[in-house]
Amino acid sequence: MTPSKRFCIFCGNTPTNKNKEHVLPQWLISLTGDPKRVVNFGMNHNTGKIPRFDWSSFVFPSCRLCNEKYSELENQAKSLILRLIVHNSLSARDYILLLDWLDKVRIGLWLGYSYLHNNPTKIPPKFHINSRIGQKDRMIAVYTIDTALKGLNTFGAETLGFQLQPSCFLLKINNICLLNMSWDFMCAARCGFPFPKTTFINNDALLECSDYKINHKVKHPVIRRRLIKPAVHLYQPIIQAPLTIDNFPNDVLLRNKLIIGSTTKGFI
Ligand SMILES: [Zn+2]
Repeated sequence: MTPSKRFCIFCGNTPTNKNKEHVLPQWLISLTGDPKRVVNFGMNHNTGKIPRFDWSSFVFPSCRLCNEKYSELENQAKSLILRLIVHNSLSARDYILLLDWLDKVRIGLWLGYSYLHNNPTKIPPKFHINSRIGQKDRMIAVYTIDTALKGLNTFGAETLGFQLQPSCFLLKINNICLLNMSWDFMCAARCGFPFPKTTFINNDALLECSDYKINHKVKHPVIRRRLIKPAVHLYQPIIQAPLTIDNFPNDVLLRNKLIIGSTTKGFI
């Protein structure tokens, strides 16, 4: 990518006070082995080559301020991951925070691989980390692995399919695997949240929705496709923009499903 096309992976603008963001943070790289270990980073479909370098060099442009804004989230996510790898339980509030962090990592990986593989789809990104955290239905599943070996892997994020739809990936951290999924109205209908009966992709390749409906029942399983049985799996429905609870002023059932202080985010 030419320097003129460089953008901040958080805000999408030309980076100010240029900085480098580790989309897989340094604390995570250190937690899982030698930070200088060399790994493969998918295949560049433009060149047919497999980029190969150390984890610590897996960095992409960002504004300094954008980068610093997430330091608290990183600190909190670190403490939660440290608890998960020793099999401590987390609260619902902890998991919501972890879902924010996974949104950040997933979109960071998507934009990072777009940089690294010279944007194989040639579609300019329409959102970035800042505009995607906590915006759409999302889920996390935690799997434990019986191993004493350290290691860090992402599965799915390096593929061409992920470039087209960055909605699902797996993150292996030492002895745990985190499955994370998020897309438009992923679980809204079955969690009693508003979902559109009519959708179409407009000329700008954006999803347009209308004719919203709410089924107030929560149905199980929340996602019909069966998962390999995880230790924990949690789903968070979110009233998707441009709507908020203000569009449903008389819907007490829906209001009661929101976390305190939020006009869009549901319980998990
Ligand atoms: Zn920025």
